[in-house]
Amino acid sequence: MIKKFLYFIIIFIPLLSCSVSKISKKEAVYDKKSFEQALVEQNNIKHSLRADAETQPVISDNITDDCADDPAIWYNSKFPEKSIVFGSNKKRGIHSYDLTGKQKQFISYAKINNIDIRQNIVLDNKEYDILGGSNKSDKSIDLFIIDSNGKVKNKPDFTIGLGENFKPYGFCLYKNPKGQFFAFVNDKKGNVFQIKIDIKNNKFLAKTIKKFKLNSQVEGMVADDKNEKLYVAEEDFGIHIFDLKNPNNKSEILNGSTKDNTKIRFDIEGIALLPPHYLVASSQGNFTYAIFDLKENKYITSFKIKSNIVDGVEDTDGLEIYTGYLNKKYPKGILVVQDGFNFDKGKLNFQNFKIIDIRKINKLIKKTTHP
Ligand code: CA
Ligand code: CA
Ligand code: CA
Ligand code: CA
Ligand code: CA
Ligand code: CA
Repeated sequence: MIKKFLYFIIIFIPLLSCSVSKISKKEAVYDKKSFEQALVEQNNIKHSLRADAETQPVISDNITDDCADDPAIWYNSKFPEKSIVFGSNKKRGIHSYDLTGKQKQFISYAKINNIDIRQNIVLDNKEYDILGGSNKSDKSIDLFIIDSNGKVKNKPDFTIGLGENFKPYGFCLYKNPKGQFFAFVNDKKGNVFQIKIDIKNNKFLAKTIKKFKLNSQVEGMVADDKNEKLYVAEEDFGIHIFDLKNPNNKSEILNGSTKDNTKIRFDIEGIALLPPHYLVASSQGNFTYAIFDLKENKYITSFKIKSNIVDGVEDTDGLEIYTGYLNKKYPKGILVVQDGFNFDKGKLNFQNFKIIDIRKINKLIKKTTHP
């Protein structure tokens, strides 16, 4: 364990030092000192997993660009092994990959920050699989219809303008138990909009039905369709739980997601649901992930992802989980996480996404809750 860590320090820190010091970005970890501090903090987290695959790097101008951000997973019901991982590129569009990480599509058109997918949405008596994203270039929400092969067009099928004064940031989709379809979008001021989406006579319609505001910068959001809850990560505060059945927008705090939990280092970034009742959050400040039990409303444990066949994961923005059979390698599903520092053969490359067998997380939960 210690030997491995030392190996990491000796081999990687000098490489990181030259690359990281050049990075000038406005989000999370950007300088050598905070990077090294995060690695020290990461070392305090005991549980360590390995990624099983990584995607091809995203496309950008400079190797130090912070551009990969948020994944989404499309399940191919006919051929599960042909399911698709989508990944946003917040400088230029959306990429898609097969389960080995090979790029399938690159939709280069706008700064897409966060993306999400809902499948089998029935609108105007027709069924759709829809990919949505928050578009920073055009201040809009963009929707793409996903075809039966997991492909989307090179331009969105529908764009919902949010007005000149709203700069979209975090984003998620929501299908309630009645089958109604919604998008949630937030901005850096903490504003959250809920928008109802419909199709009438082959035309998309959108209507903002709810607006509320949190105290500081938010981004990561995920909706629990079955239990009608919305989870919103206030980056430097913690995770809020909104009961979508309650019209008053009253929220609770997810216990153990605030600064009283020393295992978490802000920002809290991407959040994803892990059925039956868990939530995984990126604790970006210490390059780890926190697991919460939503039924008990409590923190369970944290883990990190270290190098093996692919490099370890640092500074994760978005993450996503799919549970269910995909292929022999992933019979129970996958966790996909963005990697802020993608190394290939010890050299910094463009950012990418890592794929992890979800059984590793399930095993960790079992070990922690039933030791
Ligand atoms: Ca980032
Ligand atoms: Ca997502
Ligand atoms: Ca953020
Ligand atoms: Ca990495
Ligand atoms: Ca982000
Ligand atoms: Ca790599």
